[in-house]
Amino acid sequence: MVQVFVKTLAAGIAVVRDAATVGELRATAAAVSGVSSAELRLVGGTHELSEDALTLVDAGLVDGSTIYTALRVSDDGKVQRLRRECPHELCGAGIFMAAHKDRHYCGKCGLTYALDKEAAA
Ligand SMILES: [Zn+2]
Repeated sequence: MVQVFVKTLAAGIAVVRDAATVGELRATAAAVSGVSSAELRLVGGTHELSEDALTLVDAGLVDGSTIYTALRVSDDGKVQRLRRECPHELCGAGIFMAAHKDRHYCGKCGLTYALDKEAAA
């Protein structure tokens, strides 16, 4: 059984020992992060773990691997329940922007998105 570390959206690092497949890992990570598993993307190393039926080993994970999580953004780009990832080339996946009432701000590169009133409500 492979033991992996999952960097969750809000709660730091969770250790997952009992997941045999990517799907089980996703379910556990989603429960820890407080979102539904359908909303959660898993990224291991440089690639997304999108095949839930794969075993962790077949997905290329080894004992001690660290998995990163991100929220899936809906097609219209509006479902961003927590924070958005910074699209800047220096940041990208895993760098989350701080959500303020009227803007999103990246603490790493300083990129700021002003939100319109409707989105901020
Ligand atoms: Zn940034």
